[in-house]
Amino acid sequence: MSAQSMEQLVSLCKRRGFIYRTNEIYGGLQGIYDFGPYGVELKNNLKNAWWSEMVYQRDDVEGIDASILTNKLVLKHSGHEDTFSDPLVDCKDCKNRMRADHIKNSKCSLCGSSNLTEPREFNLMFKTNVGPIEDENNYAYLRPETAQQIFTNFKNVLNSNPKKIPFGIAQIGKAFRNEITPRNFIFRVREFEQMELEFFVKKGDDEEWHKYWLEKRIEWWGKQGVAKDKIKILNVPEDELSHYSKGTYDLMYEFPHGVEELEGIANRTDFDLGSHSKNQEDYQIDAKVIKNNESNEKLVFTDNETNETYIPYVIEPSAGVERGMLAILNEAYNEEVLENGKTRTLLKLKPHLSPVKVAVIPLKKNDEKIVSYAKEIKKKIQGLNIGRVVLENTGNIGKSYRKHDEIGTPVCLTIDFDSLENNSFTKRDRDTMKQERIDIETLIKQINKS
Ligand code: ATP
Repeated sequence: MSAQSMEQLVSLCKRRGFIYRTNEIYGGLQGIYDFGPYGVELKNNLKNAWWSEMVYQRDDVEGIDASILTNKLVLKHSGHEDTFSDPLVDCKDCKNRMRADHIKNSKCSLCGSSNLTEPREFNLMFKTNVGPIEDENNYAYLRPETAQQIFTNFKNVLNSNPKKIPFGIAQIGKAFRNEITPRNFIFRVREFEQMELEFFVKKGDDEEWHKYWLEKRIEWWGKQGVAKDKIKILNVPEDELSHYSKGTYDLMYEFPHGVEELEGIANRTDFDLGSHSKNQEDYQIDAKVIKNNESNEKLVFTDNETNETYIPYVIEPSAGVERGMLAILNEAYNEEVLENGKTRTLLKLKPHLSPVKVAVIPLKKNDEKIVSYAKEIKKKIQGLNIGRVVLENTGNIGKSYRKHDEIGTPVCLTIDFDSLENNSFTKRDRDTMKQERIDIETLIKQINKS
């Protein structure tokens, strides 16, 4: 089972402290969200799962963390100044603004009027001034994708960490797009995070690697709780490809509002490294690049065995953190009708993604002995460094279980009077609600094994 509507997810996320509209006390800021105590944990856990798989489990990938503010020349030569735009249409009657490619039957999505302007291109990049002088030329961009900072650091990484082709550079970080119509909760926002790998390969090997990353990425989503059969592969038609792409597979997922892109896996050819290189004419570049006499580096690779120097091709799996969270929350969301007729809401999150790993609950809130024993147990589990472990001292077991079911805590431990006698407590499993009596040593062994 998954959520039946976006409202269910929005409501749970707000109520339980996952996601809030930013600056809500001042009316918010459209298309921008903040992450609360459990949202930040889920987000970090998701990013860690990506980093672990894409960097730590491999020998051919290095990570970087580059700046958000970007020299305008980078985004000129990457083609973003000229082409990173969406077609904008205004309704002449109600002044509603829409993306031309999202309009149905040539009618305003708000008032239904057909009195619309011709589409005009609207660049999605945010500009800002850098330094104290605000003039026309003195601006930088907030990066619209993390990828460009990887390309401009290509030589830095290679010089400090020599690699053989194929190899990759990974990065997770913020990206900004002034979307015309941000919507569908955290699906389309103006400030978001991307998890991107630029994987450099030799021309000719690119298509094979493209398929390799397609498989790998689908497999990874499976481990996060978005099963293979929930993802449809869209081979993006040629006339819809981004300016840099020779071919893109979009991983399409059925979000509560409809089927849309979760991750894109693009074959960016030699476009980016070629575009940012000086003396482009010295190399064979397949992509149509913008002439560059402003870069002071050749972003080339030299094969020490063959002495060949060339501009590699790039395969790029690029996933959005927020879209990932939305898909994972949607998959994990469950409502069960219990024997007593009540409905139980729970998030069946994979334990490595759960914001809280263990909740320790004293049966009686005012019983000093029980509470101090519970604190002791909590401290011991915290010492295992497994993530967030909390003491839930409300005195209301039912309420605590409900809360931890809803935020996806896999294990709750209840400390009662018997615990003081025999050093054991009740362990309750989130998904089955099965309870077993267990002692701390057994629990620690179980945790260490998992
Ligand atoms: P769309 O067609 O939905 O606008 P896109 O093709 O422009 O997406 P890419 O440029 O391929 O997106 O970006 C890679 C990934 O970054 C996307 O698959 C998505 O997960 C994420 N992403 C892109 N734009 C946004 C956004 N406005 N809000 C949230 N995530 C985004």
